[in-house]
Formats: sequence, C-alpha cells, structure tokens
Amino acid sequence: MALSYSALREQMVDAARLLAQTGVLSRSGHGNMSVRLPGKDLMLITSISHIAHLQPEQLVVVNFDGEVIEGALDPTTREIIGMHACVYRERQHVQAVIHTHSPRVTSFALANQPLPCVYEAMLRFGIVEDIPVADWAPRGSEASVNNIVKQLRAHPLVPAVLLGNHGLLSFSQDIQAAAQLIVIMEEAAEMTLDARSIGGEKPFPADALERERQHMQRYGSLS
Ligand SMILES: [Zn+2]
Repeated sequence: MALSYSALREQMVDAARLLAQTGVLSRSGHGNMSVRLPGKDLMLITSISHIAHLQPEQLVVVNFDGEVIEGALDPTTREIIGMHACVYRERQHVQAVIHTHSPRVTSFALANQPLPCVYEAMLRFGIVEDIPVADWAPRGSEASVNNIVKQLRAHPLVPAVLLGNHGLLSFSQDIQAAAQLIVIMEEAAEMTLDARSIGGEKPFPADALERERQHMQRYGSLS
C-alpha cells in the first residue's frame, strides 16, 4: 500500500540527506524533523532520533498533543512533539521544523550565547537579528517548551532558536528551506568562532539590519 503524503515524505528525506551531505549533523546523526499537514493541526514527524539515513516509512502522523494518528512512534521520540508543536502553534506561516545538534551552532547553545547576526548569507535567509537562546530545561518538559515559546514571542521575526546546553530549532515555509537555514547558521557559527581568533566578528553598518527588517516587513519574510 502506498504511504500517505508520499510527496512530503520524499521532501523530508531529501532535506535529511542535505543535512547529512553538508556535514551539519553532529557525529551521532541525531536530529528530528516535521512538516505541518496542509490545513490541519497535524504533522508528519520523524519516528527515529537519527536522521542521516532517514527513510520515508520512518515518518508518522501525529496531532499537536502527541496523539499518533497513523504509524508507530518510538516512545523515546514522543518527547520531541511538544518542541515541534509549539512552533506551529506560535507561527501560523511555519510549515516545517528541524532540530539538530549541529556542532558549531550548538557550541553557542552550550555557551548560552546568541548566534550573532554578522554574516551576509543570514540576511538572505530572513535573519535580521541574533538567534536567541531558550533556557535549558529537561528535554520534553513543559518548562523546556515554555522557554522556547518565550523566545518565539520575544523575537517574532526570528526563524530559529538555540536550545541552551542542547542544540537548535530551525523553522521555515518548507522543509528544504529549514534545512538550508541550518547550513547557513552552521557556516555563520563556524566563521564567527574563527573570526574570534583574529580580533572577533564585527557588526553590520548601523542601519543595515533595520533596512533589511523594513524590507522584510514590506515584502514578507522567507521564514
Ligand atoms: Zn536534541
């Protein structure tokens, strides 16, 4: 029997492959990803916790409360649902969410420091401010979800959040864009850390981010 939502499943497999091929997964290959099902409070989400070799059948349909609608979810994966669902609830235009432990970005998360917006490529992806850090709380807990929501509300334009002492969340209008955003963030984090050995990163000219922000508000964000 054909799998439901086969086109979306293929897009998710392609996005996971992009993450693996560009080397932005941590050594374990840990990560999870989801897409919102069109017009429904449902998502297609990874049922496994290592995505380097994701297959279309390793995706299940769940609602935003974590109830499985179709497929079988590994019990250890259940705890990630709140982390994905809170982004869909807070950002109506978001269609895809990815969580990884991308090493350079996660270095900032471990340091509990925002990822500075200093790299031109970030602007192209709709990032016009530093990527904020959600405070740590036990994985899957209500407190950890609340900490993410707090940052989403404080930074309504930002298309990603760092998870303190943990990793990152990226979200966008489709799964490919969410994956590309992680690649750009990982490049930015790597270059920023390198720049710190030769005097440190420098901010954009004073009005550059405000000009980009106005442009986004006029023409809509990519995220
Ligand atoms: Zn994680």
